[in-house]
Amino acid sequence: MTTDPEASGTDLHVHSTFSDGQHSPAAVMALAADAGLTAVALTDHDTTGGFGAAAAAASELGLRFIPGVEISSHCDGRDIHLLAWFVDPDHAGLRNALARLAGARERRLQAMLKALSLAGAPVQETAVREESDGHVPGRPHVAAALVAAGHATSVQSAFDRWIGQGRPGFVALERIPAGEAIALVRAAGGVAGLAHPGLAHAGRSLPALVQSGLAAVECDHPGHDPGQRRRWREAAQRLGLVATSGSDFHGSSLRHGFIGSESLDGATMAALEACRP
Ligand SMILES: [Zn+2]
Ligand SMILES: [Zn+2]
Repeated sequence: MTTDPEASGTDLHVHSTFSDGQHSPAAVMALAADAGLTAVALTDHDTTGGFGAAAAAASELGLRFIPGVEISSHCDGRDIHLLAWFVDPDHAGLRNALARLAGARERRLQAMLKALSLAGAPVQETAVREESDGHVPGRPHVAAALVAAGHATSVQSAFDRWIGQGRPGFVALERIPAGEAIALVRAAGGVAGLAHPGLAHAGRSLPALVQSGLAAVECDHPGHDPGQRRRWREAAQRLGLVATSGSDFHGSSLRHGFIGSESLDGATMAALEACRP
């Protein structure tokens, strides 16, 4: 179920231009169909804005669209990403929470621009907004603007030098407590999973998250080595969680996997759907 060049099944973790991906929701669906997937979840950071376009494109392509979102969250003092699938985007509580996070991203952008200017790497807000193509700007867009302004030679070096954790332009993002986020996902008819736990060093938090209603854990992720995949699968089995897979696709030339590089089979998908409240 991992890194199969002839992808089939479901990719439960992909991004579009509505957060920090390179391709529009419709283009992402077309790439998913080309990769031979049968179903795909759009899981943009803290927004469900891409659902309409993605669902329309998927239906034309004969692809199953799963409405998802990746929620910026925290637990035990650590930043974690929660994946939510099957959510109703019109649920008032979820909408309010996502609006709160969008506000937090805007505030962070202003703070980053100020910090970068003080550090001697000024970038124009309009340049960042151009990079984000009308959507809520995130760090990759600031990084791209830093490159365009000549303060870095690549997006990666912009993170390493200016805006990665501990660097002069870094500003932490306000996040939603994980227990609250999981409750909201369930109230909105969805199923919550922990994204890339190996990258978040989230092992200690898992029992508390399960207590809050977490149903799945992303074991297969391009950033996990074989040992991590095995250990997370063991943890999933021990805690009664569905072991999911996701490419965390952001674009053809960006980090993480290509769409469909991680996918799950029909039986696992059925187990996940059985967790819907
Ligand atoms: Zn993530
Ligand atoms: Zn992601």
